[in-house]
This record gives sequence, C-alpha cells and structure tokens, in this order.
Amino acid sequence: MSTWKKNLYLFSGDRMYKFFQEQLDNKINNLNLRTLTEYCPIDAVRVKRNDKEYLMMASNNYLGLTFDERVIEGAIKGAQQYGTGSGGSRLVSGTFPLFTDLERELAKFKNTEKALVFNTGYMANVGTISAIADKNMTIFSDELNHASIIDGCRLSKATVKAYSHCDVEKLKCLLKQVDRNARKLIVTDGVFSMDGDIAPLDKLYELSREYNALLMVDDAHATGTIGNGHGTAAYYGLEKEVDIQLGTLSKSLGSVGGYVAANSTIIDYLVNMSRSFIFSTALSPADIGAALAALHVLESDTSVLRRLQNNVNYMADCLNSMGIYATNETPIFPILIGSNEDTLAVSNHLYNAGIIGTAIRPPTVPVGESRIRLTVTAAHNREQINYVCQTLSKAIKELNCEGSI
Ligand code: PMP
Repeated sequence: MSTWKKNLYLFSGDRMYKFFQEQLDNKINNLNLRTLTEYCPIDAVRVKRNDKEYLMMASNNYLGLTFDERVIEGAIKGAQQYGTGSGGSRLVSGTFPLFTDLERELAKFKNTEKALVFNTGYMANVGTISAIADKNMTIFSDELNHASIIDGCRLSKATVKAYSHCDVEKLKCLLKQVDRNARKLIVTDGVFSMDGDIAPLDKLYELSREYNALLMVDDAHATGTIGNGHGTAAYYGLEKEVDIQLGTLSKSLGSVGGYVAANSTIIDYLVNMSRSFIFSTALSPADIGAALAALHVLESDTSVLRRLQNNVNYMADCLNSMGIYATNETPIFPILIGSNEDTLAVSNHLYNAGIIGTAIRPPTVPVGESRIRLTVTAAHNREQINYVCQTLSKAIKELNCEGSI
C-alpha cells in the first residue's frame, strides 16, 4: 500500500471508504446507480459500441452541428491560428481575438449590449448567481430549474424561495412576502431540460417589474430551438427587457462552453466578481472557433432550424398517433414512466433495438417521475424517427407501463 494511503487509513480507519461504499450500495439497491458507457460517435445521430450501431436519441445536439463541415472547420482554424490551449485565465493571460468575436456576435444574437463566455453553462450559472446574489438577496427559483442554478443559489448564500413549476400565482405570493426594496432575483430555465416545456417568461417579466426584481433566464435548451433560434426572450419579444440571458455553447451550438448576455454593467460586474470566470483557464481556441462557426450557421442557414422544427412536428405527430402524448413546442420529449424499474426496462428495450434513450432518474427528476427523455435533432431523418416511435410504443405496451407525459 502506498504511504499516502496508509496515512489515510491511520487517520480515518476504514470508516470513510465504508461510508462511500454504503452510499453506492444504496444506489444499486434503488436501481439508481450511474455508470459511464463508452460510445464512439459516427455522425451527429449515430454512435457505435462493440461494433453495433445505435441511434442517439439522448443528446442535446439539437441542430446536429457537431459533425457539420463548417463547424469542424471553425475548430480546426481556431487551433491552427491560436494553438490548442489558452494557457490561463483570460484576466491573466489575455483574451485571444476569437473570444472577442464570439462575445460580440452573441451579444448581437441575443440583442444585448455585451456577452461574456464561461467555460461551461454550469460554470456560467454558478458564477453568475453567486456573483450577483449575496446573503441580503432573495432568489425566487422555479422548482424544476437545472442543478447548476440550484448550486449557484446555494453558493450565493442568498435566501432561496422555490416556487411550484411555472406557477406565476405562487411566485406572486412569495414576492409579496419580501420587502419591496430588498434586492431580488427571479431565475428560470427558458426551456426546462427534463420536461421540454417553456417558462412563462412574459408573466415572470411583469412580476419582476412589479416587485422590483432582476430577471434571469437560462437558455441552455432554448438557444437554437425556440424564438427563431434566439431563445426564450426572443420567443416572447423581450430581448431588451430580460436582465440576464444565460446559455451554453454545448448543445445547439455543438461545442462546449457557456455565456451570459446582458447590459454592460452586469457583464463588467461579472468580469470582476464571478469566481468561476476569474479563476479558471479559458476555453481552447478550437472550442471557441467551433462555437463561432455554429453561431454563423444558425444565423445564416435557415434550413437547419427548419429541419429541426419539421422533425419536432413529425416526432410529436408520430408519438401522438401511437397514443403517447407529446407536444411540438421543443425537441425534448419526456416519456414519463414512473418507477426506476420500469424506466430502466424501457430504456433497455430501446437499447437492445439499437436506440439510446437514457433512463432519467432521481435526483435529476422527482422520485416516482422517472422517464425516458428523447430528443430529436435537425440531423435525424423520418425513417429513424418512425423507428424510434414504433419501438418505444412496443416497449411500453410489452412492459405494460404508462408512457404518458
Ligand atoms: N442549464 C441547463 C438548463 C442545462 O440543462 C444544462 C446542461 N444540461 C446546463 C445549464 C449546463 O450547461 P453545460 O452542459 O454547458 O455545463
């Protein structure tokens, strides 16, 4: 045994490892253990594992741009021009021009004064919320907001009041209970990641002005999918009104990274106060080059967005015709099953038929609301969508579970 491990044992005995193992055993017993599976991507919608091909129905690559020649070219050019790594935090080692270009274009795209790129959407949420909120602020957060919003709220030490999902009346009651002049933030996913529904941002905006609160929307799943691709604020015609539009470069934009689009004061404030921005090495030129190229594609090639919308409509029709309720609002199709056991059974059935439809279980969704979260992209074709819907319908029937949302 290595010296450091011996020391650890002397210090803690076996107790800590035993505790970790018990936690893992609990997960195994509750059918809730997470494991990593290796897949080799073939293109934007197909992957390979042990020489068998699978159809990917569980990615957020909504516009199918990860294999687009123009985007790959953007990544290659970025690396060739500026190297493979950025070498440090942007405040220390400098900002290479691709960052400036991307932030300028993102601000234009989101109709805001400025934008700031973070390393991931997760870091953007955590770094933004913990910077703008402190223990004297109250945050009003939709109960189904993404984990990175929840973690940002926790880190901020602000008072957090979670309101029932999209329940504007409930939110109003909570807002009324807080001093009018106290600092407040309302924060919501634009498109909810596990449900695919759209936040009532117009109503949230009205409340934010009535009760003197900042309004922040997380467009991780809304950019490239709604509001003509521009996201939730654009969907409601509120781009100039929403205080903070946050998003990710890792889903529709086929790269990796996050961003915040807002007015100059907020962006300058984040550059100075956001710890996940300040204390982390910047993204690589290839990441930024790919995101910038993807943004150009989204803005200039309307066929991509049209293909996505056609596929969303087609998949919703297909599911509905098989008695599985679905809406055509967004590319996220949550198939609510219920128990972990049934959900895993459906997921395995799909897998054996060559389809990846991951079982989504607690804590990602509430206990008893496990589901298969299917996503369609601009790169799927109708034959693939038909196959997925038919296989899913068969699985639900054979396993005799609900399949309802
Ligand atoms: N917000 C939401 C709503 C998300 O679903 C996700 C990722 N699943 C994130 C933020 C984090 O984005 P990223 O993957 O770029 O860290």
